[in-house]
Amino acid sequence: MSKTNDAASVTFENVRKVYSDDFVAVDSFDATIDDGEFITVVGPSGSGKSTLLRMVAGLEEITGGDVRIGSESIKGVEPQDRGIAMVFQNYALYPHMTVRKNMSYGLKLTTELPDEEIKQRVRETAEMMGIEDQLDDKPANLSGGQQQRVATGRAIVRDPKIFLMDEPLSNLDAKLKVHMRTELQRLQEELGTTTIYVTHDQHEALTMSDRIIVLNEGELQQFAPPEEVYNEPANRFVADFIGSPAMNFFDVELHGTTLLGNGFEYELPSAIVDTISDTDATTGLELGIRPEDITYDASGDNTITAVVDVVEVAGSDNFIYLDIEGSECRVRVSGGLKPTVGDRVDIAFNPDDVHLFDASGENLLTGSSDTAVPQAQTESEKTT
Ligand code: ADP
Repeated sequence: MSKTNDAASVTFENVRKVYSDDFVAVDSFDATIDDGEFITVVGPSGSGKSTLLRMVAGLEEITGGDVRIGSESIKGVEPQDRGIAMVFQNYALYPHMTVRKNMSYGLKLTTELPDEEIKQRVRETAEMMGIEDQLDDKPANLSGGQQQRVATGRAIVRDPKIFLMDEPLSNLDAKLKVHMRTELQRLQEELGTTTIYVTHDQHEALTMSDRIIVLNEGELQQFAPPEEVYNEPANRFVADFIGSPAMNFFDVELHGTTLLGNGFEYELPSAIVDTISDTDATTGLELGIRPEDITYDASGDNTITAVVDVVEVAGSDNFIYLDIEGSECRVRVSGGLKPTVGDRVDIAFNPDDVHLFDASGENLLTGSSDTAVPQAQTESEKTT
């Protein structure tokens, strides 16, 4: 099945959502999603992700600003006329209907398509989703994965301009989640349908999307491809939220080219000092460095001495938790390395991968790093 309309971009212009209790859930939100893009919206619980999606779907009023699909504002357009299809976390299947009916019901209700055409679309989509043998079953008789496929199939069968997906995989066990994640990506690539996918899982966002929207407290933090969000976080919030285990942060002051922390000094190459965007910012700073951007057991001048506190065996990689004068520092090392707790070790921060945040959380050193996004496991996946 191919897309019927090639103008399926989504433009958010100064979008604001205020709930009835005067709570501002989304504010000053601007973004343009291109036709055919797979966008994930990621952020902590309560950051406004679902609200954003529900405004596009027509399940919530837009308090201020505008949302356009293609060149047309969706304000005043009935939800069923917006060309969108939504997949929910709980699938929202009709329990008393068969899979076939669940998939055809929306089409019957909202289109003039002849029965034969609807039947054919349901059949084709069921085959695409691998649920053709379940068409006469009721949802209660299906596994979680099959229910997820029915919910996705029901969205696909409508041949929408835009898919809206709200945490569609969070009810699946860890192994199935990984499988369905690749299945959804493959489907979206095949169909080329613009997709907005909400998740609280930063790993899902990093692995699935063309670009990531990072939200916090209803405000856009960054909208960029995964590598950029990972390597050039716009601010401390993004740096901390994206990546697992999280980036290390140390309180520092800048004296010339030296970063002075609690119990360590770090010499920043002058070429990097020259790129600091605010030359007045010298105190109240934080140095940020990812666990994989630290050399364990390093030699040379610019090293920091630390003590091994905890060794976490994670399979192909291990994580060493070090103590630097009371500050914790996580380092990613290869799986073969298992130091003894209490060992003293010298470590080095890769200067190209050092981030520096000012007191307001702004990243003063963007554009300095190009580390590949590691295929880290989420906490839940580690258990399988
Ligand atoms: P997320 O999807 O990121 O978890 P939501 O968009 O669901 O966040 O919610 C954003 C904020 O808006 C939350 O603080 C939530 O409590 C609030 N909120 C959501 N729906 C309503 C509502 N119907 N009435 C009042 N507040 C709401």
